[in-house]
Amino acid sequence: MFVWTYKANLRPFIDGLKKQGQSIGFVPTMGALHRGHLALVERSLRENDRTVVSIFVNPTQFDRKQDLETYPRFPEKDLALLEKLDPEMIVYLPVAEDLYGGPVQREHFDLDGLDRVMEGRHRPGHFDGVATVVKHLFEAVRPDRAYFGEKDFQQLRIIQTLARKLNLPLQIVPVEIQRETDGLAMSSRNLRLSVAHRKAAPEIHRLLNLAREMALQGQNPEAIRMEISKRFKQNPLLELEYFEIADEKTLQFARTFEPGKKYRAFTAVFAGDVRLIDNMPLY
Ligand code: AMP
Repeated sequence: MFVWTYKANLRPFIDGLKKQGQSIGFVPTMGALHRGHLALVERSLRENDRTVVSIFVNPTQFDRKQDLETYPRFPEKDLALLEKLDPEMIVYLPVAEDLYGGPVQREHFDLDGLDRVMEGRHRPGHFDGVATVVKHLFEAVRPDRAYFGEKDFQQLRIIQTLARKLNLPLQIVPVEIQRETDGLAMSSRNLRLSVAHRKAAPEIHRLLNLAREMALQGQNPEAIRMEISKRFKQNPLLELEYFEIADEKTLQFARTFEPGKKYRAFTAVFAGDVRLIDNMPLY
């Protein structure tokens, strides 16, 4: 395993691999790795000669100080997991100032309004922070393919837009949501759930499934939104922040389901002080 901290060391190493004609897959993460992350890493290992995994809890994308401070961190365990998957794995553990190459602050991006709905509306500055760090990471790693989970579907769409706008010569590869056996979407934040909240959390997936059934039965987006919001309110352990149905491409809220377009339900829910997000394709 090759572990790098500074761009000055990582870049020549990657240059060397590229000169040998090796393709580079990249999986950016914030660590506390689980099977969701590993699905991305495994896919990258299958599709590329070499894989780079970055682990970096990016301060500029957190809108709540407490969330940043309590974000789970298990560097040794993460490294052991990655080494087991591939002894040749390249791990990038950046230091913020070196990665940003100056002040650690977010830049502003024009993301075609994709950043103004849902997560963007409830977490001001979040996607500028994400776009800033991903831009720096792409510059440091210069991958051929980068892997992003549909768990953060809005983020995935924003990164695709960013890569297109910056003319980056790489392919963004989406990977399906990985779930626990009870349906809860895997997330590093699940580790912070109390026993009671962990038990309550699979309701999020059940209600997304219900939304899908209602859509298949021909109900309109607003009727689905009202019913699902009502069901969330019946659960005292979950506090709904939003439940929305949006066009997969534009992420604009849907008033009707138009033929030929794809739609998804998106939700953010507080289980105690832990904020969970999930989504599901409706068609
Ligand atoms: P994070 O460490 O939360 O920033 O996630 C790193 C990458 O893993 C992102 O592209 C996420 O979308 C992806 N990811 C996290 N959880 C899951 C999951 N349950 N299923 C699929 N991808 C995931």
